[in-house]
Amino acid sequence: MNLLIVGPQASGKGTQAEKLVDKFNLAHIEMGGLLRNMAKEDSSFGKQVAELINSGQLVPDEMIIEVINKYLANIGKLDGILFDGFPRIVSQAEYFDNFLSQKGQKLDLVVYLTLPREEVFKRLINRRICSQCGKVFNILTNPPKVEGICDFCGGALVIREDDTPEKINKRLDGFENKTVPMIEYYKQKGIVEKLDGNRPIEVIFDDVVERMKKRGLL
Ligand code: AMP
Repeated sequence: MNLLIVGPQASGKGTQAEKLVDKFNLAHIEMGGLLRNMAKEDSSFGKQVAELINSGQLVPDEMIIEVINKYLANIGKLDGILFDGFPRIVSQAEYFDNFLSQKGQKLDLVVYLTLPREEVFKRLINRRICSQCGKVFNILTNPPKVEGICDFCGGALVIREDDTPEKINKRLDGFENKTVPMIEYYKQKGIVEKLDGNRPIEVIFDDVVERMKKRGLL
């Protein structure tokens, strides 16, 4: 079973991805995380990736494909893979479909979480992240016990560098202009399930599971 989860920033993609991976024994490929790790490496590839990410640009397809090929070559045998952050644009989706079909596989489902722009803003503006352990809080919906301090490690909570209104707008424009057309491409293939991401975590998760059942994936 191969799944792809997509949605705008702060749509709860990461949370749902973790739950799906745990429940169904899936491998989880999170492209943003893989790239952020590479960006820390002291290599020319790492430096190039860091520059692109920090300036809010997409990493070119040739580099993304190199990363994904390396990752897939090393993956163990599991019940399936949950892709998150790849493919992200139509050209990557076309490459990916070709790649899977050469292996006698296909993408079975695209889980598309939606969230209105105002809600994305509200979530991101109120997001705080621990400067030490990386745990994420939200001062409205999931506040720390003591203001400004991480419940888990006592580290200082900070605002992420890219959670400024201009950068949020830039990222959302990228989603609308480049990722939404890719979702449309998969919609034509009849494999997209669109879900309202503005609901409690468990309600969304039950909805995803229901739709997987309806499609005979479980
Ligand atoms: P994310 O955590 O998914 O928002 O990704 C962080 C950054 O990594 C993005 O702003 C892009 O610069 C880069 N990135 C992640 N996935 C891709 C992809 N599939 N194609 C190109 N760039 C990507």
